[in-house]
Amino acid sequence: MSQLAHHRVLLKLSGEALMGAEDYGIDPLVIHRLAREVIEAQQAGAEIALVIGGGNIFRGAGLAAGGMDRVTGDHMGMLATVINALAMQDALEKLGGKARVMSAIKINDVCEDYIRRRAIRHLEKGRLVIFAAGVGSPFFTTDSGAALRAVEIGADLLLKATKVDGVYDKDPNKHADAVRYDTLSYDEVIARNLQVMDTAAFALARDSDLPLRIFDMSQPGELLRILRGENIGTLVQGRS
Ligand code: UDP
Repeated sequence: MSQLAHHRVLLKLSGEALMGAEDYGIDPLVIHRLAREVIEAQQAGAEIALVIGGGNIFRGAGLAAGGMDRVTGDHMGMLATVINALAMQDALEKLGGKARVMSAIKINDVCEDYIRRRAIRHLEKGRLVIFAAGVGSPFFTTDSGAALRAVEIGADLLLKATKVDGVYDKDPNKHADAVRYDTLSYDEVIARNLQVMDTAAFALARDSDLPLRIFDMSQPGELLRILRGENIGTLVQGRS
């Protein structure tokens, strides 16, 4: 039995986290580093599932703003998340990890369909599972996919990696006096009008009593430190 504070977690990475300094696509060095951190955290004893967004390739809302049908745009966005998931699977396997991509839309020549019991079995057997295509429906985001899958697999923590190291009372890039919260309740996030996830994802996490930690994964070692119980970033949990 591991000495970790968290046994099974779901890590949500935005698609942009894979871009590095590029403005599109996947930087091989960046995905390699992220994969290495995930494997190190898994080797410490945690079961880890991942959700990766698609914003480094396509977002439905952006395509719709350019004139495309929104549902078609969202389908393209979901396929973008499958591309990222396959890239992460490859990066994890190159480092010796065992990984399975499971998609919410059927595309089973390239990856498995999402089946909850099978996903849990993969985790129990020491495989990393990457959930692709969000919830499988348009008008949602991968934040919602992450919250949904985290609840379904019984994760004890949802981790959201962002470009800033937690939740602040105002934008820390614009205000030098912005203050970072250590902990927040779900009700405080609403009362203070803080943006931590999109509304559907937020409501599901809150109603399911799923703790959520927001942190900056560009800082090496943070994932493992969180799993060991260190208070990094901002923890959102509880009702008041
Ligand atoms: N998407 C969707 N349904 C889902 C998840 C994602 O339609 O359940 C589409 C949507 O167009 C979204 C895109 O896939 O913009 C990429 O996901 P997201 O924007 O969450 O990626 P991120 O911002 O995390 O990179």
